Parts: sequence; C-alpha cells; structure tokens
Amino acid sequence: MLEVEFKQPGHFIQYLTSISGSQGSVISNPSTLQELGRIPRMSRKEVEDEILRSERAFQIWRKTPAKDRGLRLHRLAGLVRERREELAYLLTLEQGKSIREARGELDYGASYLDWFAGEATRVYGDIIPAPSDNKRIFVKKEPVGVVGMITPWNFPHAMIARKMAAALAAGCTALCKPAPETPYSAFALQALCREAGIPEGVFTVVTGEASEIGDALMSSPTVKKLSFTGSTATGKLLIQQSAATVKKLTLELGGNAPFLALEDADLNAAVEGALFAKFRNSGQTCVSVNRFLVQESIAEEFIRRFCEGAGELKVGDGLDETTDIGPLISERAMRKVKEFVEDAINQGARLHLGPTSLSDSRFIPPIVLSGLTDSMKIWNEEVFGPVAAFRTFSTVDDGIALANQTEAGLVSYLYTSSSVDIFRVSEALESGMVGVNDTRISIAEVPFGGVKQSGFGREGGRYGIDEYLNLKYLSVGL
Ligand code: ADP
Repeated sequence: MLEVEFKQPGHFIQYLTSISGSQGSVISNPSTLQELGRIPRMSRKEVEDEILRSERAFQIWRKTPAKDRGLRLHRLAGLVRERREELAYLLTLEQGKSIREARGELDYGASYLDWFAGEATRVYGDIIPAPSDNKRIFVKKEPVGVVGMITPWNFPHAMIARKMAAALAAGCTALCKPAPETPYSAFALQALCREAGIPEGVFTVVTGEASEIGDALMSSPTVKKLSFTGSTATGKLLIQQSAATVKKLTLELGGNAPFLALEDADLNAAVEGALFAKFRNSGQTCVSVNRFLVQESIAEEFIRRFCEGAGELKVGDGLDETTDIGPLISERAMRKVKEFVEDAINQGARLHLGPTSLSDSRFIPPIVLSGLTDSMKIWNEEVFGPVAAFRTFSTVDDGIALANQTEAGLVSYLYTSSSVDIFRVSEALESGMVGVNDTRISIAEVPFGGVKQSGFGREGGRYGIDEYLNLKYLSVGL
C-alpha cells in the first residue's frame, strides 16, 4: 500500500503527483496535456498481497461497532469538505471539468459519506413468526467481505465515494481500481481515510494494467463482490469473469438517456433542465441526455432557446473560474464525438449550433443537431460529449416508443405539465430512474441505477447498503 501523508495544504497535491518513481504510468492534464506525475503499475502479486491485507483488515473492521464505522465515515466527509478547494483543484487537473463542477462533485461525494455513515447504524434484521412453537427464526445482515471496485474517470471522486461509503458502512473492506486517467482523487481519498481513523487495509487503491487488476480481483475467491461503473462492454466482460467465483455484482453501465418534452411543458424550465443535463461535465456522464425528443408543435422554439443557452457556455481550461465546459478526457473521446457528428451530418442531420467541421482539439464547443434518425450512431450509442441531437414526434405514444428504442435503461427525463402524463409516461419509460420536470436527479438519498443493459443493483438511498450485505437466517430449535 502506498503511504500518502497529508502535509500542509498545497503540499498534498505535490505529494500525490509524485507518488511513484519513473517506472509508473504517466498521468496528464487533459487541458494542457502536461504530465502531472506517474502512478504505480502494480504487479499481479502486489495486487494479490493487497487482497490478503484487505481480508485481514475485514476481520477487524466487520467487528468494529457500526456506530464507530459511521463516526469515521462522518469524519471522512468532514475532511473532504475541509480540503474541498485543494481536492477540487486536483480533480480538475486530472479530469478537466470546470473547477465549479469539481467543487460540486466533492460536496456530492461527501453527501454519500454522510448518508452511509448514518445507514451503518440502521442495518436491522428481522424476527419471523415460526410455523411451530419449537422453533424461533431470526434474519440478520452480514457484510459480504472484501469488495472490488472498478471506477470510471468522469467522476473520479464521487463514483468511488458512493461505493466505498456503502461498503465500509456495511462492514466490508474495499480495493479500488480507479480509472487510469484519474487516479489522484482516489489516492487522495485513501490518504484522507487514514486521517479519519479508518484503519489501513480497509480502503486500498490499486493501480496498474486494467485487465490484469481486473483479472486478479475477479479470479480471487477472497473478493466476494465487485461494484463496477463503466462501459457496457467492460461490464459484460466482468459478468463473465465473475462466474468463476460466483461473485455478487453491482453494475452501473452505459445509458442512452432520452429527454421527452411534451407540448404542454413549461418551456423555460425544460430548456434550463435540458442544458444542465446535456453539458454538465462536457456531456461526459452516464445520465447525460443523448436523445432529445420534442413534440412537433414546440420543437422549433425549444431548439431556438436551447441554442441560445448553449451558445453562452464558455469552453476552456477547467481551472478558469469562468469556464463551463472543459476538454474531453482523451484523444479517443474527441475522435468518437467527431465521428458521431460527421456521421449524423452525412446522414442528413441539420447543424443549428457549432462549427461545420471539427478540429482535432479536445475543447469541443456545444453542438446542436436536429433530424436525428434510427440509423445514426448517436441515436444508438452515447456520444459522451457536448453534442445535443434532436428528433421530433407527433403523439405522446410515439414519443414513448422512441424513448424506449434502446437497449440501455439508466435514466429518462420527461417535461410535461399534465398530471396524468407525469404518471402515464413515466410508468411507460423503461429506465431505472425518471426525472420528471427535473434533471438534477442524482443525490445521496435515492437509489441510483438502471435496468436493461444499463446494469443492476442500486447505489445510494436506503437500498444502497444492501448491495454489501448478505442475509443470514438462523433457525433455532427449542
Ligand atoms: P471507458 O471506455 O469510458 O473508459 P471502461 O469501461 O473501459 O469505460 O472503463 C471503466 C473502468 O473499467 C476503468 O477503471 C477501466 O480501467 C476499467 N476497465 C477497462 N477494461 C477493463 C478490464 N478488462 N478489466 C477490468 N477493468 C477494466
């Protein structure tokens, strides 16, 4: 395990960015492409040693009273808030998002730490009436054990915080493999765990070759569960790998979120919600709108207002306080966005906003297209960039059918002022979450997760901790 010490503020980043020697993988700032530092490329043996250490830590942590585990998680939340400015700076350096969004992400991560700190003390069991008088039946919940976590680069702090908060509250220990693009926020969390009094080995960051670490975690019988957030393709591979040791899984996979605006919607609110849900994190979130479906009679005005708002967003280095949209995370991400936009335009989409041809820069300005059709790449797959693609529909039923025309099922958004349609349409939408006249749906109090190929399991809310607990039933004969 890496020894990362908190020195005085300011030195933390310096320390983190010089964690390993020259042999490690290079991490760079997506805005400037400058090298930030190098991180360790752990060997399989080193990962296996960490799994054993995690198992030893589990034997102690599971017996630590729930109230103590909760107190330490609360302390961790407090430390994240205290060091928010420095952690936000670090997050923007490695991820590129605007510093204002980075601060928001830290608050969001801390809210999960607080939430699950409270949940730790509410892991209740049951007493079941027995079918005969010579028996008593009890159900209790026990931590599953050592948990593997594989996390993405779009929320380098929060995706880890919401997993580890639930796991540690339940009494599990965790080994986290952060995304190779954004490991520093993970190391920062590990360092803060120590300060919060969370013992060594309870939360450990492992870095190196993704497939090698993945294989070490998935093939180990000691690792009882995997929680993954990432692409559907990697999720499917991990499902296969989990078969060998029959692991419990929580999978948050890709989305292809539809945004349905019915003609009776409050247009101002709908456009404001749409702008947020499209351009946050430069469109690089699994709950970003990928397909705008607007009823014919309001489409022209909706697109006009949307373009007006999108045109005001400032693209630039995330460290600039005035930036709204930072760079895309990688060259690969930029190429994908370019490919999807060109494909749509070649198939007849109309360009309302944005350059007619995209350069090779990772700084992509808001792009608005209409005339989206089934055969376009952007209809079928998340673009993961600041591109808004519109399609119109005539009846509400047509809109619902279009919204559901995807294998993904993470989130849908619906704007309407009809109380009947609020229920009728949201019940017909095939997704784990529906934002009705609301696009700020992701908060600690709720069960976040999808259906269909967007995965299974829930993070957050009173359900989230169950992902890290096994039920044990006791039959007591008298
Ligand atoms: P993206 O393409 O958006 O980066 P991925 O699903 O590839 O999405 O990445 C999400 C996380 O999964 C990252 O931490 C990445 O390193 C990890 N990952 C990718 N491939 C594998 C693999 N074969 N085994 C384990 N983890 C993997």
